[in-house]
Amino acid sequence: MSAIHLQNLVKKFGDFTALKTMDLAIADGEFMALLGPSGCGKSTTMNMIAGMEEPTSGKILFGERDMTGVPMGRRGVGFVFQNYAIFTHMSVRQNLAYGPKMRGAPKAEIDRRVGAIAEMLQLTPLLDRKADRLSVNILQRVAIGRSAIMEPAIFLLDEPLSNVDAAFRAVMRTELKQLQRQFRQTMVYVTHDQLEAMTMADRITVMDHGVLQQVGTPLEVYNDPANVFVARFIGAPGMNLLRGRPAESDRGLVVDLGPLGVTPPLPVEITAAVRGVRGEVLYGFRPEQVTLAESGRGLSMPVNFVERIGARTIIHLGDGEAAVKAVLDNDVALSVGQTAVIAPAAQSVRVFDAATGLAMK
Ligand code: ATP
Repeated sequence: MSAIHLQNLVKKFGDFTALKTMDLAIADGEFMALLGPSGCGKSTTMNMIAGMEEPTSGKILFGERDMTGVPMGRRGVGFVFQNYAIFTHMSVRQNLAYGPKMRGAPKAEIDRRVGAIAEMLQLTPLLDRKADRLSVNILQRVAIGRSAIMEPAIFLLDEPLSNVDAAFRAVMRTELKQLQRQFRQTMVYVTHDQLEAMTMADRITVMDHGVLQQVGTPLEVYNDPANVFVARFIGAPGMNLLRGRPAESDRGLVVDLGPLGVTPPLPVEITAAVRGVRGEVLYGFRPEQVTLAESGRGLSMPVNFVERIGARTIIHLGDGEAAVKAVLDNDVALSVGQTAVIAPAAQSVRVFDAATGLAMK
């Protein structure tokens, strides 16, 4: 019943198409993140699932039931927004109890549910505080509690942590995941923060410009991006991409590095995939998956910037189209002006068609 199917979903605002033919199946009990940059259509998709917006065309099913056109109040979904919607003149307890009370639940049951949800969200000591005396962090926690207490089979959260501070966000990531495990709800979670998507979601739907780019587990979208957009968007920093072409000998690739042409390492299956390709390709590798190598055994590039971030050091190499980053140990002894030779781990290399941006397999 609480699986969600989006079928050929399209949303237009006048002449502008905010969502282009989205097909997506979210399983019962799944935690699905909708991830993408600002304006990519995440909230529009979510609002249509909730029933706040109607699609221009296409269907929304919950289980087998067609929900298209069903008013929001009758869809049985819980919804938490970026801006907490709570009653500031009431106490935390009254806010949490509001939904069950409106539904006519008996007092003993309301007390039990309020107690349980407050415990789970660490609100127990604050139950009798008036909401207008609480910080933004706590207010958002109350807002989540207010929705969660209704135990909706489908729980929709649109950027619920974007207004809370970083330390609190880290705590809430764990709590939300636990909440979902406990209630086994189908959760759809809109975010532009990949860390939130990667740490909480069972699967991630990556979107850009109203177009679904890839659906996969966090590791799938990280390891095997479907296209150049996902490769660059997922990862911090994103995947390095160097322009190149298959070598004359049909054995591997030659990448552009200024005047240098270098044949970098390639996994066997990619060597096979690029054999016979005539056009340009993009040679991709993760900044975390490189090592420093001896001259002649990797890509030789000038160091342009050294960014020490504590646990690791990000080395910026080359410039323009031939710029890459390498995430290395924090004590790496490289400085600006030196030349470094980096070797991407062969099994992590991915190659994309430069014309279409699609991954080559
Ligand atoms: P953000 O994180 O900034 O909210 P988003 O990915 O959630 O981004 P949406 O809010 O879904 O993006 O918006 C997608 C596009 O549709 C944007 O270009 C937005 O300006 C446009 N849009 C959204 N709602 C409307 C509306 N009611 N009328 C016109 N355009 C709209």
